[in-house]
Amino acid sequence: MCIICENKLVSFTFLDCSQCKILKTIPLIEKINSIICYNCPSLTQISDCNELIRLICCNCPLLQNIPQFQNLQNLDCSECISITQIPCIDNLTRLDCRNCLNLKEIQKCENLRYLDCSGCRLLEEIPQLNELVNLWCYKCPGLKRIMRSGQFTKIQKLCFSDCLFLNEIPSFTKLCVLVINNCPVLERVDFSKMQELKDFFTCESCPSLYIPYKDRQRLFDKKGKYLIFRLKRVQQRYRLKVLARKILNQIPRTVRVLNDMIVSYC
Ligand SMILES: [Zn+2]
Repeated sequence: MCIICENKLVSFTFLDCSQCKILKTIPLIEKINSIICYNCPSLTQISDCNELIRLICCNCPLLQNIPQFQNLQNLDCSECISITQIPCIDNLTRLDCRNCLNLKEIQKCENLRYLDCSGCRLLEEIPQLNELVNLWCYKCPGLKRIMRSGQFTKIQKLCFSDCLFLNEIPSFTKLCVLVINNCPVLERVDFSKMQELKDFFTCESCPSLYIPYKDRQRLFDKKGKYLIFRLKRVQQRYRLKVLARKILNQIPRTVRVLNDMIVSYC
């Protein structure tokens, strides 16, 4: 039982009705701007509250729809296994939808800056989100495409793993951190405009990926603050051993602060 079930609801701006076993619907509450309702096993519906800014509704297994809230900025609906779609919410800046096992579509939310869709096994596409800064797609086996173009985006951090159908990553001009693990058909990462990619690049178990010589030189010869070099089971034509030795020889001269280093195939 929570204050909604007990009918103690009066006008206020913040509501926490988490862990209520019997709550089915969150009614329309005027002027509310923050709702926290995680772990509500019977919750099927949240009303479209106009002034809502923050909604934390993780692990509500029967919740099927997220309304198209006008003012919502922060949405955490992770582990909501019945949600199939995130609608276009214009003001949304942060979306956490990890492990939404039936999520098939994220619509174009123009102002989204942080998106974690890890574990969304049915998600096929990340739409063109030009304001996006951080994107996490760990364990998204159905993911086929991420954006049409990387040129005008603000993406700085991009992490992928186990994307079984992803075959191309476009050139994100502001990218600083790139993590790619176990993407078996990934053939091409367009490094041509990734001039900022110097702090962190790791790539593991991508047997189809080929990085052209000029890109390899540029990526691994940067004088970075941190050097993390990790290439495993990538195509043999990289001459990994030679490359790794070359980097090892250069370390005393090029690295000022070494935090972590993983070198394989030496
Ligand atoms: Zn209740």
